[in-house]
Amino acid sequence: MINSTLKELSAALAAKKISSRELTQTFLDRIAQLNPTLNAYITVDPEKSLAQADAADQRIAQGAAGPLTGIPIAQKDIFCAKGWRTTCASKMLANFTAPYDAQVIEHFNAAGAVNLGKTNMDEFAMGSSNETSHFGAVKNPWDALAVPGGSSGGSAAAVAARLCAAATGTDTGGSIRQPAALTGITGIKPTYGVVSRFGMIAFASSLDQGGPMAKSAEDCALLLNTMAGFDTRDSTSLDRPVEDYSRDLAQPLKGLKIGLPKEYFAEGLAPDVAKAVEAAIAEYKKLGAQTVEISLPNTQLSIPVYYVLAPAEASSNLSRYDGVRYGYRAPEYTDLSDMYKKTRAQGFGAEVKRRILIGTYVLSAGYYDAYYLKAQKLRRLIAQDFTEAFKQCDVIMGPTSPTTAFNLGEKSDDPVSMYLSDIYTIAVNLAGLPGMSVPVGFGANGRPVGLQIVGNYFAEAKMLNVAHQYQLATDWHARMPGGV
Ligand code: GLN
Repeated sequence: MINSTLKELSAALAAKKISSRELTQTFLDRIAQLNPTLNAYITVDPEKSLAQADAADQRIAQGAAGPLTGIPIAQKDIFCAKGWRTTCASKMLANFTAPYDAQVIEHFNAAGAVNLGKTNMDEFAMGSSNETSHFGAVKNPWDALAVPGGSSGGSAAAVAARLCAAATGTDTGGSIRQPAALTGITGIKPTYGVVSRFGMIAFASSLDQGGPMAKSAEDCALLLNTMAGFDTRDSTSLDRPVEDYSRDLAQPLKGLKIGLPKEYFAEGLAPDVAKAVEAAIAEYKKLGAQTVEISLPNTQLSIPVYYVLAPAEASSNLSRYDGVRYGYRAPEYTDLSDMYKKTRAQGFGAEVKRRILIGTYVLSAGYYDAYYLKAQKLRRLIAQDFTEAFKQCDVIMGPTSPTTAFNLGEKSDDPVSMYLSDIYTIAVNLAGLPGMSVPVGFGANGRPVGLQIVGNYFAEAKMLNVAHQYQLATDWHARMPGGV
């Protein structure tokens, strides 16, 4: 059961081969057994999960089930879920119980899915290794010495180790795609505005986007059908007709035009990652695709631009954690100003503070034009690179991450080297485009390699089709780490 696709699980539930309670209990038992080592979950609450499973079983018995009814899904601990502790992996929210559901959670609840627990992540989604979590690092199920990537590292590890049927993530600069790549799973960040940000704790509002993380593209399509949707409570949510993201899965790829950005295959790309990615592209050619070299000339600007804009937005979003309304408050202080200072000094970790300092600096009166405004202008140029590129191709492919998973501790004292691990993913967020990662093999150290697929705006169904056809022809996505 733990290796089954969502479709298979749904069929088994409908045929009463298994109940949602039994399925949920199977995963809860695995969590109890493996989470002490992996640390993929921050919160599990078996009573709540099993109550949802029982409700799903009743719904199935009444013949009112949908494709996700009764299926246990892990939720990144950035999504508010009513009655659940929701921490964003920060001391600031370590004791916060959400009083309402994020729209994504509402949608899963309406679908009858089971919330299996809240997964670990980098604090406020700031990081690429899951090491900034207040609740400790997550281990990569493929190699306990390796990071699972971040910030959605807990969800990625939970899917890879089969501690859930599927999971959710969020991606501001790569946080769905990079951990998916580093743990050998499939994940998609939709076009900005497709998934509501309501109740998704804000990091950088113009970049944040939720999306599914699962064992396959087919599963991701089913999850995205549930996650997507217009929301009047999110002013950047897009009011578009409801789509079936599974609709094109079966389309053949003959004639598909794949753009290969020369900047993504240049210096800095590890040879073993390049090899696996090139083998995947060769497989696509066998499936009838053609390749064309393209250029994204402003690629090298994406990291500096992101590290001006994302901290600017974060410094504003995180001003709400002041010890007054909710969350952590310093136990001892002299006056109001001292309370603010101590609360924020004690409640935030080092990476979050670094971002708040950078963000406040680039937004300050004397520097706004030189940094923030300049970065906004460059953001537009980066987006235009993609608009030009999509005149020549249907999808863009390249590595998701320049290396396979690095070791725990390897980059934690070197923020710039950590930031560079998102070199191929960040521009996609700056442009608001959809991007996904698909497992395509293993590196020299036996750690997974991911292929990034970038589509034009609203091309999710096409990208899922492109990924699914590859997964029909290969079995990398079906491999499971040994020892779990
Ligand atoms: N690693 C990037 C950062 O630290 C992206 C994180 C994300 O996508 N949430 O900001």
